[in-house]
Amino acid sequence: MNDRPAEQPADLVARLRAAFRTGRTRPLSWRTGQLHRLRALLTENGPELAAALGADLGKSEQEAMRTDVDFVVREIDHTLEHLADWLRPEDAPVPERLAGARARTQYDPLGVVLVIAPWNYPVQLLLAPVAGALAAGNAVVAKPSELAPATSALLARLLPAYLDTAAVAVVEGGVPETTALLAQRFDHIFYTGNGAVGRVVMRAAAEHLTPVTLELGGKSPAFVDAGADLAVVAERLVAGKFLNAGQTCVAPDYVLTDPATARALEPLLADAVEARYGEDPAASPLYSRIVNERHFDRLAALLGSGRTVVGGGHDRAGRYLAPTVLAEVSPDSPVMQEEIFGPILPIVEVAGLDEAIDFVNDREKPLALYVFSPSEETRRRLAEETSSGGLGFGLPLAHLTVSDLPFGGVGESGMGSYHGRYSIEAFSHRKAVLEVPVG
Ligand code: NAD
Repeated sequence: MNDRPAEQPADLVARLRAAFRTGRTRPLSWRTGQLHRLRALLTENGPELAAALGADLGKSEQEAMRTDVDFVVREIDHTLEHLADWLRPEDAPVPERLAGARARTQYDPLGVVLVIAPWNYPVQLLLAPVAGALAAGNAVVAKPSELAPATSALLARLLPAYLDTAAVAVVEGGVPETTALLAQRFDHIFYTGNGAVGRVVMRAAAEHLTPVTLELGGKSPAFVDAGADLAVVAERLVAGKFLNAGQTCVAPDYVLTDPATARALEPLLADAVEARYGEDPAASPLYSRIVNERHFDRLAALLGSGRTVVGGGHDRAGRYLAPTVLAEVSPDSPVMQEEIFGPILPIVEVAGLDEAIDFVNDREKPLALYVFSPSEETRRRLAEETSSGGLGFGLPLAHLTVSDLPFGGVGESGMGSYHGRYSIEAFSHRKAVLEVPVG
């Protein structure tokens, strides 16, 4: 529960904007103070946060800490270490005709920022943008996902207990509550979720000319070259794909490879699933559950594509869907029509590199592209001839853990980016300042 449950969205935004205009969020000391408080929220409530993530998604405590809680702690530590540097105004050279003048850029906070988060990493994907917005000196309205209700309720209780309630608020709820929020005038909207709602957010933002960051999804391919060490590839694909039962925006969505490599990879993927989750993944404490029955039904309907190499088992009552690998999957099959966002890994066969590049370019720009190839030329071609939010050679998911890299999509996978100093870019206005002496 929010500590101000009855506050109407218009009143809430007006109150935060008034606080912003007093200048209270601007000093570096307020920003670092809020980041320290957010860090304390995470470190003092780890078990409770992990329990909420367990209730919502069946995440193990270990995984909840690693991918949600500690992730944000690391992001905060990195920001605390560098924030003063990042905010320092940068001098710019002036042209000859303005000799004697001084030019610089300075980062201004934007004002009141709305952060709308999804359910799959409901702590990380709410609090990492909130940390960035606070570091940039903004007031923030945080809207957790109603589809992770235990985490949403806990964060709605904890955030006001730790942060400056004059400038930070949580609004819980689903479509009606978010629609009411989106009718307000914000200075930036940061949305993570699917592209259909991304369009709703952008339309609402257009009414007020509010800039948006859209962190969306898509089908992220993993290209596997014949010359790669396939046992290593299988292990890394399994680790990246089945983390959080495949409900990860940057999970490898499908494998692209040639037929001979596919045949060799199939048993190794089955072995890797067993090595990681045991003979019965349902009993593995490391394996998450599907968030709700709607998503379970959607995923179960995708199991018919191709030939099942491993997995396929499912139990609706327990929202369990086994780690599943499907071979010889046709590009026309249902599983290849939309982002899977669950524990199903199709293998699609292409003749070779040229066809793989065309396959990627014939589809929407993905959030990530993964490439397993010992060939420098192959890696170079994929880097230069395709477009994706991020590009990972040799290891899925890990690029988003590098705080000095921007994290975001391109085209249908989103616009804008964040993490580390890129969060300061996202949540600030870079103001041009020219000083010409008058006296
Ligand atoms: P979701 O259903 O939790 O929705 C996200 C947010 O949008 C929620 O807070 C929800 O309340 C709000 N919302 C839903 N319908 C709305 C509407 N009509 N109007 C206004 N707000 C609305 O999460 P989801 O969309 O199912 O998340 C999964 C998608 O998110 C996948 O496509 C995934 O790839 C993507 N994703 C992207 C990233 C990233 O960082 N790029 C991270 C995680 C997930």
